Amino acid sequence: MPIDQYFGLVLGHPQYGYYMSQQPFGLEGDFITAPEASQMFGELIGVWFASIYQAMGSPKAVNLVEVGPGQGVLMADMLRAAKVMPGFRDAVKVHFVETSRRLREIQKQAVAREGFNAQWHDNFSDVPEGAMLLAGNEFFDAIPIKQFEKRGDLWHERFVGVSGDDALGFVLSPDPTPAVLIPSWADGSDDESIAEVAPVRSAIAETMAERLAAAPGAAIFIDYGHAESGVVDTLQAMRVHKFADVFEDIGYCDLTSHVDFGELGKALGRGGAKVLPVMTQGDFLRAMGIEARAQQLLRKATDEQRDAISFNHARLVADEQMGTLFKVMAAISHGIAAPYPFGEM
Ligand code: SAH
Repeated sequence: MPIDQYFGLVLGHPQYGYYMSQQPFGLEGDFITAPEASQMFGELIGVWFASIYQAMGSPKAVNLVEVGPGQGVLMADMLRAAKVMPGFRDAVKVHFVETSRRLREIQKQAVAREGFNAQWHDNFSDVPEGAMLLAGNEFFDAIPIKQFEKRGDLWHERFVGVSGDDALGFVLSPDPTPAVLIPSWADGSDDESIAEVAPVRSAIAETMAERLAAAPGAAIFIDYGHAESGVVDTLQAMRVHKFADVFEDIGYCDLTSHVDFGELGKALGRGGAKVLPVMTQGDFLRAMGIEARAQQLLRKATDEQRDAISFNHARLVADEQMGTLFKVMAAISHGIAAPYPFGEM
């Protein structure tokens, strides 16, 4: 079975898939995402969207879309922060792209607490057309990749198969992959290099950018990954905050790969959006004023809350935590001025 098919089943099988059956988030779950760590993350993205809404000429209606919303925390924090601009809040229609029925229930409650309803879609292409502000945090890492391994001068697709000891493992397709399917950035790499490609990610990104070409709007994607394409093996499984074997406890571990922001940017560009230079999460959040927001929260906090605010502030921006590994990529409609802090870099 090709890796992308395995990846898709592990996460998305209707009955046994990880996101269908497990509780991934938070200390009790398998991993902690930025919005789950601190309200400041969603608030600052909400403020970023509010300023773009103004740059768009404050349209009467705008779709605020989130792909892969998890427990709906990012959306709820964005909506709360949007109170700084009442016109924006009044114009917003909330749309979620989410495959898990279990998570949809949790998302519904999260936005209801902010006084909003939402509409859900299985695929981004089902979101209604029109002015759009789109966010995705740790969405693309959950969209399957393919891997190719170099042997001599040829590349072979890596499959999941049964290895010698009757266990699941990687096997190489005996037939080489046609060279046109291997991206040119992999040219000249060493023997046994791994090249990862994500055709479904690129297709989704292209569709998103086509929407930005047809109507005004902006998109922002945050994920762990590399700013430039290159040969790497980043397929990983995670359970209870530790790396796990990608073939063990299938459906009980999260399975992801790092996002190749080089390819993501190309796909967004092909779809017709203006792609802004990628930033690290640390630089983005600092530029958006996370220091000041943390100080503000600290002033109103109890001792226990103070510790949590400082701990999670560092988690989001520190280089050795999420600050550098996580990248932020934004794309906007042509005709909208490059928004702060992506402008001149
Ligand atoms: N953005 C959230 C959750 C990230 S986890 C946060 O930062 O906390 C990935 C999310 O993407 C989950 O909500 C999962 O159910 C959803 N998801 C995974 N594969 C998907 C797909 N193919 N289409 C839509 N949503 C998907």
